[in-house]
Amino acid sequence: MVDTPDNDIEEQADVLVFGTGAAGLTAALVAASEGLDVKVFEKSALAGGTTATSGGSLWVPGAAPILQRTPDVGVEQARSYLLGELGDWVRHDLLEAFLGASPEAIDYLAQHSEVRFAHATNPDYHADRPFGSATGHAITALPFDGRMLGADFDRLKPPRAVFMVMGGMMVGRREIPMLLRPFSSVANFRRSTGLLARHAWDRLRYRRGTRLLIGNALVARYMYSLRQLGVPILYEARLIDLYQEGGRIAGAIIEKDGRRRLVKARRGVVLATGGVSHSVPLRSELMRGTRTNTRWPMKGRRVMV
Ligand SMILES: Cc1cc2nc3c(=O)[nH]c(=O)nc-3n(C[C@H](O)[C@H](O)[C@H](O)COP(=O)(O)OP(=O)(O)OC[C@H]3O[C@@H](n4cnc5c(N)ncnc54)[C@H](O)[C@@H]3O)c2cc1C
Repeated sequence: MVDTPDNDIEEQADVLVFGTGAAGLTAALVAASEGLDVKVFEKSALAGGTTATSGGSLWVPGAAPILQRTPDVGVEQARSYLLGELGDWVRHDLLEAFLGASPEAIDYLAQHSEVRFAHATNPDYHADRPFGSATGHAITALPFDGRMLGADFDRLKPPRAVFMVMGGMMVGRREIPMLLRPFSSVANFRRSTGLLARHAWDRLRYRRGTRLLIGNALVARYMYSLRQLGVPILYEARLIDLYQEGGRIAGAIIEKDGRRRLVKARRGVVLATGGVSHSVPLRSELMRGTRTNTRWPMKGRRVMV
């Protein structure tokens, strides 16, 4: 950590956010929605991190989209399920903070941005155990039209190849049977031909399909919302070090275009650079019970964060 500003001070903001996964983009969106001046920095040329390539399913018991569909699968059931799953590993303070705040967080996003969700209807991992749910406690981002990002669409990290068919068309789990049997009903035929025509038209103009789902839709929704709030994302801008002034973190040293510079933060610096589950040292420090001799953190073990 450095405490002398021997780098050029070129920029300032209320809040600096490092990382463009769900964690960083949420922090940026909330700070900007609360009226703060925010800058987001991403080390790669593309936004989204692991989040953009993920399944994008959020386990949020009690979230409004779940209660609308299955009012009986609420927070109480999730608490009992988690207590059974976690056993001796439980930390009640974390459990209550998670159960209390996470539905509220989803409401906040829906009220302040285009980051909106639907019930994912994925079963719990252990749906057969006491208080497990077959319809689940998960939500997923609503599909998003990548064309709404304009030129920023090229900045969105693409999904993993397994989530795409026919040169970049994202297909939802429920759409697979319909596309495999387009002639089984008039509705299937209409929907299948509609999706294929949209994709063909997309491919005349874009490198991949613009109908975005799961983790890719989630990041696209954040990018769109942040652009509406006027929050810039600086690409290929890597956090190098934190800057300290008067005993507090007051900025960061970033490297961009081969130059290092100090960016000062009036209110705070958010580190959301991911990589925890891939890092053996971080897992050893933060996640009790995971394997530390392998890059597979959860195989065959219970995990307590
Ligand atoms: C295939 C797959 C499917 C998954 N499915 C799910 C799922 O359905 N549900 C679920 O809950 N979880 C899922 N996960 C896990 C989940 O995706 C991650 O836990 C989550 O996306 C992490 O988000 P994050 O914001 O912390 O980090 P990330 O999304 O990884 O973002 C971190 C960002 O920080 C940037 N960065 C790193 N270092 C610097 C630096 N020095 N300066 C500036 N920027 C930096 C990175 O380039 C990256 O863009 C899945 C993971 C994978 C691999």
